[in-house]
Amino acid sequence: MKFETKAIHVGEEPNLKPGGSGDVAQPIHLATTFAREKVDHPTGGYEYIRSGNPTRNALEKRFAALESAEYGLAFTSGLAAETTLFLSLLQSGDHVVAFDDLYGGSRRLLDRVFQKNFSVSVSFVDARNPLNVKNAIRPETRLIWLETPTNPLMKLCDIRAISDIARESKIPVTVDNTFMSSYFQNPLPLGADIVFHSTTKYMNGHSDSLGGAVMLNDDSLYQKIKFTQNAAGAVLSPFDSYLVLRGLKTLAVRMKQHQENSIQIAEFLNDHPGVRQVNYPGLSSHPQHQLARTQMSGFGGMLSFELDGDIDRAKKFVESTRYFALAESLGGVESLIEVPSLMTHSSVSPEDRRNIGLSDSLIRLSVGIENAADLIEDLERAFKKI
Ligand SMILES: *Cc1c(COP(=O)(O)O)cnc(C)c1O
Repeated sequence: MKFETKAIHVGEEPNLKPGGSGDVAQPIHLATTFAREKVDHPTGGYEYIRSGNPTRNALEKRFAALESAEYGLAFTSGLAAETTLFLSLLQSGDHVVAFDDLYGGSRRLLDRVFQKNFSVSVSFVDARNPLNVKNAIRPETRLIWLETPTNPLMKLCDIRAISDIARESKIPVTVDNTFMSSYFQNPLPLGADIVFHSTTKYMNGHSDSLGGAVMLNDDSLYQKIKFTQNAAGAVLSPFDSYLVLRGLKTLAVRMKQHQENSIQIAEFLNDHPGVRQVNYPGLSSHPQHQLARTQMSGFGGMLSFELDGDIDRAKKFVESTRYFALAESLGGVESLIEVPSLMTHSSVSPEDRRNIGLSDSLIRLSVGIENAADLIEDLERAFKKI
């Protein structure tokens, strides 16, 4: 099966056996416990909702299929998935190497929970150069945490080169694949060990469900994470599992439209005299455009840009659009606009923001799937206002 077909059928094969209902959409199974005939083994394979639920398990099967993985796991949020991964793979005294330009919440979890409370040390490095990752590895390094492209500066790291380095020391590499979704980038075939998504974004795609996904091939890693998923309990609810199963059916068509609109908007901004710089991996002016072309099968729907002006102009700009809603988050069908330094990245210290090159006046767009001409007209309106 090709991607588009898997996204619709895997996990939702109609049950045509005698007594099966033939539903073409997976029912929402709400039962918290499952009856059995004999004490020794559960009759239908299910015991208690936290350990297994038919709607969630259908979604987990779909997750695995979309990343060409053996296993998939669904969690109640992206950060709950990350917490479960860290609890499964790390002990106090262990060390993590992470990209210095991570999603703010991932950095906060590593820095202010695991580093502070559990004595896990973390080196944040500029992973655009794989040698920086190599040089940060210590004997006690147990995890490499990457995000590509990053939020909001759209920096890339070379998944294959870093995975080759990590393999020598047998350190698992995890890639946060939220920005590209499973449609435009698949880290496992490039050598990564674990893929992570905040499904709150593109995977669900409709800004109405919080969730996280983990996909992987290694059986012993899977058993560890599966154990912690049940032991710590941050599992995705049946209703949210249904929403993500439904959202994923249109992932391919959504991503194509997100990208088509983004290319037009990136070019419009790039040519605009009121814009100093546009960060979009699809532009040939992006410093890692070549890596983007080889590592990803598209460039996605996220971009950021620098206005010619200060933070007050940026604030006025984002308050002047009509179709781009002024809001955090990303990856939904509707377009969003924000100022990272004041909104999504306000938890990152001014010093850390300066170090990664995130200016106070940078504007981030999550380009939706509305009509591109309408979206460009909306941005024109904001330029006129300022
Ligand atoms: C949103 C996001 C997360 C965190 O996921 P939640 O679902 O909000 O918990 C992690 N990484 C990236 C890149 C994100 O955009």
